Amino acid sequence: MRAVEERARGLEEQVRRLTAERDAIASTVPSGVLDLFHRVARSRGGVAVAPAQDGMCQVCHVKLRLQFYADLKRNEEIVQCPACNRILYYEAPPPTVSAEP
Ligand SMILES: [Zn+2]
Repeated sequence: MRAVEERARGLEEQVRRLTAERDAIASTVPSGVLDLFHRVARSRGGVAVAPAQDGMCQVCHVKLRLQFYADLKRNEEIVQCPACNRILYYEAPPPTVSAEP
């Protein structure tokens, strides 16, 4: 029983630490963006962001317009998926390993 109580205390401490970390990070995000994040998260089961790769939203798999995707790849602005509304970010594809000897 003592081990369980110690484990619970450890986890509570972890929650306190992570909550403080999360609040510190959230305080650096512009409030309009934070509001958008919470709005999208509420309507999308808690997942407000989605990677974009190969010209597609990787969550709902809608194909993105060419210019939209080109702009998105710069990761300079907050853009939302036209289909699922999640906040998109560009994720470069993993480097391909050459089969050449
Ligand atoms: Zn989407």
